Amino acid sequence: MSLKDYRPMMERCSNCLGCKWIPFDKIKSQRFGENCPSVCYYNFNTYSARGRFQLAQTILDGDAEYTKKVTEVVHSCTSCGACDVSCKICRYNLEPLDHNIALKIDAVEKAKTLPVQETIIGNLKKEQTMIQGQKRIDRMNWAKGIKVKDILLEKAEVLFFPGCKYSYEDGLTEKARAMVFLLQKAGADIGVLGKADACCAGRAYQMGFEKEFEQRANANIEAVRKSGAQVIVTPCSDCYYAFKRLYAKLGLNVEVVHIVEYLDRLIANGKIQFVKPVQMTVTYHDPCHLGRQGEPYVAWEGGEKKIRNQIHTWDPPRPRYNGIYGVYDAPRNILKAIPGLRFVEMERIREYSWCCGAGGGCSETLPEFSSWTAAERISEAEATGADTLVTACPWCESNFAGAKNQNGNKIKIYDIFDLVRAAL
Ligand code: SF4
Ligand code: SF4
Repeated sequence: MSLKDYRPMMERCSNCLGCKWIPFDKIKSQRFGENCPSVCYYNFNTYSARGRFQLAQTILDGDAEYTKKVTEVVHSCTSCGACDVSCKICRYNLEPLDHNIALKIDAVEKAKTLPVQETIIGNLKKEQTMIQGQKRIDRMNWAKGIKVKDILLEKAEVLFFPGCKYSYEDGLTEKARAMVFLLQKAGADIGVLGKADACCAGRAYQMGFEKEFEQRANANIEAVRKSGAQVIVTPCSDCYYAFKRLYAKLGLNVEVVHIVEYLDRLIANGKIQFVKPVQMTVTYHDPCHLGRQGEPYVAWEGGEKKIRNQIHTWDPPRPRYNGIYGVYDAPRNILKAIPGLRFVEMERIREYSWCCGAGGGCSETLPEFSSWTAAERISEAEATGADTLVTACPWCESNFAGAKNQNGNKIKIYDIFDLVRAAL
């Protein structure tokens, strides 16, 4: 759908502003009751989902244009989808998140982008990674020294797709090797894409660079098809979302699981056993693209239909993504299975989780906003009394670590895999 196709939604939005809050019956305190990092940080309604509907309508009507400020507003959405979940609590016929991305796509098509975005996308086109400064030729260096099949040369059941962060970043490449080693030890037949491995480009889509996303996605889908893999396992929630939802829409038909789901299965059937106690009080952050946006893709083709020329609905009924079928239990099962570990929940969890701030490319394009968003989550984690904040996404982990270092928080930041290793 192009931006103009969202006009009926723009007109239907009732200005209730539920999209700024987690559902009222889930609010435990005023301090942690809001859900939209963008409107909270910039403190102006245009930054909310409601404001974005109004802004787009004004642009379509020709009463506003993509000035420098408007362009920044459009791209200052982390694509976290919290507004979408809250809106759908009472509405069945609006898609605020899809609309926010359509607005970004429209801006990008009119060359209204932020300077850093051009650099990031330039690197995606040239080096097939969105991590600045990294080269395609170095991508598989992370796997040096381990025995793992090149799935395009030798069949394997499971395709391990590490994603850009685990392929390049210090501290994460070693973890990627350890993941492969542990999965193999538990009996999994693992392969990697070797020379065909490249960025999933899910973040390009989140930033509104639709064409660049589709080019990369189609190449990756072709590589997966050739590989014959039955399952794709990834430790990155952005890659997970790209494969599970975006690639499925483009025709990928392979089971996609996040590593927490795979580990949870291995623990449940006794192939991984924890023996060492981990004496920590831990709280868990649900990554947006693993949690509320991690629901399986449901194919749908249809259009809007009016009943009695008044009530808007969809024909046939449209899939309702409201976050409840995201990946929430697997990481919690893992943490609860670790001996000695005390698990506590934050106030905003599961589909109502607060974003880490890294989504939509904001960690690179609007670092102060992104870091503030991470700091808010750290405050919420600290309020539980936990000494450790754990997540299951390298983007969340690095954004939290950056904010912690900036603000001097004492809480420790880990990926869930770090605790799994500690307990083996
Ligand atoms: S986007 Fe949804 S929740 Fe937000 S004001 Fe409009 S109808 Fe209400
Ligand atoms: S997707 Fe997230 S940041 Fe963007 S408007 Fe919705 S709640 Fe705010």
